[in-house]
Amino acid sequence: MTDLDSFRTETRAWLEANCPAEMRKPIRSEADICWGGRNWTFQSDAQRQWLQVMAERGWTVPDWPKEYGGGGLTAAEARVLKEEMQRIGARPPLTSFGISMLGPALLKFGTEEQKRHYLPAIARGEIRWCQGYSEPGAGSDLAGLQTKAEDKGDHWLVNGQKVWTSYADKADWIFCLVRTSAESKQGGISFLLFDMQTPGVSTKPILLISGSSPFCETFFDDVKVPKEQIVGEVNKGWDVAKYLLGHEREMIAGMGLGTGGSSVMLGPVVKPVDPFLRAEIAAFDVDALAFAAMSERFAAMWKAGEAHPASPSMMKYAGTELNKRRNELVMAARGSAALEWENESTARTWLRSKGNSIEGGTSEIQLNIVAKHILRLPGA
Ligand SMILES: Cc1cc2nc3c(=O)[nH]c(=O)nc-3n(C[C@H](O)[C@H](O)[C@H](O)COP(=O)(O)OP(=O)(O)OC[C@H]3O[C@@H](n4cnc5c(N)ncnc54)[C@H](O)[C@@H]3O)c2cc1C
Repeated sequence: MTDLDSFRTETRAWLEANCPAEMRKPIRSEADICWGGRNWTFQSDAQRQWLQVMAERGWTVPDWPKEYGGGGLTAAEARVLKEEMQRIGARPPLTSFGISMLGPALLKFGTEEQKRHYLPAIARGEIRWCQGYSEPGAGSDLAGLQTKAEDKGDHWLVNGQKVWTSYADKADWIFCLVRTSAESKQGGISFLLFDMQTPGVSTKPILLISGSSPFCETFFDDVKVPKEQIVGEVNKGWDVAKYLLGHEREMIAGMGLGTGGSSVMLGPVVKPVDPFLRAEIAAFDVDALAFAAMSERFAAMWKAGEAHPASPSMMKYAGTELNKRRNELVMAARGSAALEWENESTARTWLRSKGNSIEGGTSEIQLNIVAKHILRLPGA
């Protein structure tokens, strides 16, 4: 028996003993996702218990180093854990922007002190983070951002506005791009971390077509941020921002995999009789399988540091366009039953999926990046 085989046997037994039955049911709505944070209210004892036992083992972030709250697993072990969790249908114990975005950036650019301070709290789900990148005049052209941070000796003084800040009204802290110099567009940006309770920070939810308000306008009015809460060097925040975006795009691309592999997942509906729709679903399934294979290959290359820096853009484009197609097909197949509007309905999920090809950078921008940096097309 290889070491990996025994790791699988032990992991399987541990999951059997520790994953509550309730946490093995599919996620049906946003409310089933555990985001953690200072104000988090657990849905159930099972949700609390699942987070606790997984965090104790470092398995909310299995491949982070142990000294920062991770599981210290090798890439192969982390994959086995993922497979064993999928085998029993275990839900992720914790979902957070700290895990998928800020953590990897801190591991690469943070000081030792920052890593020891922020990462274990992210791993335990104690602090919920939001992302302050976009502004009313800076979305696709992110480096055009104008939120200003002035050096006041012992602190930064932040003034400006962000927009589309997902869960800003629920987050405890923000990772925020600010302008610290007007001399260079990309070379005048810094990356700050601060508490959303700091005086001068306010949020205003934005209502969406789906009827929910997952994001906000975020305002900064003379917000004092301690000097040491900068990640990376002053005016070098663009490097941190881009690295984080790669991880964000990788995470969003994962939506292309759906929650259950390749199938369109029509739920309780009987197979559609329309032959054209059946053909479209079959074609979708083939593309989804191809995407799943490509994702696996990409994830291995990305973790090994061998992927092209622009390849998250390729994955993000393919994954999000696929997820939109899946939702269109589910709507078509379910007919009038799909129009139900209460709770987390099919129609709301369909409408939400439209944002996938905008958030984290639009499909057009991803295609521009692929054309320029991977395909090296003339004029791109
Ligand atoms: C669900 C959701 C969640 C989000 N969460 C966050 C968050 O938490 N934090 C955050 O900071 N931001 C967040 N955003 C914002 C998101 O990053 C921006 O919406 C996105 O980058 C596009 O910027 P914009 O909305 O300003 O559109 P614009 O940049 O104004 O683009 C408008 C249109 O023009 C096209 N376009 C622009 N430039 C080009 C070009 N050079 N070539 C070709 N086409 C172009 C775009 O593709 C788009 O179709 C979120 C967005 C969504 C939808």
